[in-house]
Amino acid sequence: MAIRTIVTVNSPKGRVLREKAKKVTNFDTMLIRLVRDMQETMKDAPGVGLAAPQIGVPLRVLVAEYEDEHAVLVNPEILKQSGEVKGTEGCLSIPGYVGDNIRRAEQILVKGKNEHGVVVRITAKGWFARVLQHEIDHLDGILYTDRLDDPKDFREITDEEDEEELAPSVS
Ligand code: ZN
Repeated sequence: MAIRTIVTVNSPKGRVLREKAKKVTNFDTMLIRLVRDMQETMKDAPGVGLAAPQIGVPLRVLVAEYEDEHAVLVNPEILKQSGEVKGTEGCLSIPGYVGDNIRRAEQILVKGKNEHGVVVRITAKGWFARVLQHEIDHLDGILYTDRLDDPKDFREITDEEDEEELAPSVS
């Protein structure tokens, strides 16, 4: 396993964050290695979610872990969504900033495969649902900054928001 470099929006490789990632067709050892590296990179950051384009790999793969909920999703699709909640999000690819009042569905049902090619369905609510929607957006080249209602909601992290407090919101 290895910790990979996280691509940030203004870095030379940042364009990968704006591309639509490709569907995974081969469920092989390379994919398993990718997922393990993503999990390790996410924990090291630290973050609660990571999408493959964030380490420069344009494939539809995401990992997420928040409290006792965790997910590995390959080729994820949101099958159902309900409710709407506003919240603050950060992104490992946009260091030092957060966005307030980002609208997300309150509850979602996601279908995908795990790293072994087994179909998985995940019902997520609240914060974990937000993390998954944020990561699925990454697979379509969408960043939370695209979802701001008001540009003023994009702001630098303040001194009061220490890193530990923000860690659960950064993905
Ligand atoms: Zn992100």
